[in-house]
Amino acid sequence: MAGFHLLSPYFLVSLKELYSKQRECSSDIGRRKNRQEVDLAQFCLDRGTILHELNHVVGFEHEHVRPDRDQYIEVIWDNFTSEEFKKEMYIVKDRKRWSVFNESYDLYSLMHYGPYAYGNGKITIRARDSYFQNIIGQGKGFSAKDIRKIRKMYNCLPDRPQDVIY
Ligand SMILES: [Zn+2]
Repeated sequence: MAGFHLLSPYFLVSLKELYSKQRECSSDIGRRKNRQEVDLAQFCLDRGTILHELNHVVGFEHEHVRPDRDQYIEVIWDNFTSEEFKKEMYIVKDRKRWSVFNESYDLYSLMHYGPYAYGNGKITIRARDSYFQNIIGQGKGFSAKDIRKIRKMYNCLPDRPQDVIY
């Protein structure tokens, strides 16, 4: 959480709107209704998963659906056991709609799924650089780029003029 503005009004609003139906780990992307629903079933109650879902709440998509993802990962379609996830992976998001805030593809992102996502033990996502194969889907906390993107989206860059003490 280093560097994350816990006291940002946006983050407090998100937490106030936290609401659990205890079915799965999921959230809408960005604010949709008056009350944002975040599903956190028992098996989702670890730090990484909660931060991942709250990062959806504040407006971020999965890293592996970026338009440039095929340069960094290979999707192994035949190994998916979930049609729903396959569908999600097919839809490579439109860059105009989902800003990447001028950050390059992030294999360390908390918003990146791991190698075995929806594969029932088989690899569904292969990092093109094998060094990253066990890094994708780290699930522990924000990467440096995750934090930079949050700061950019909410205009809380440390070097913005109002943060400078003269
Ligand atoms: Zn997610």
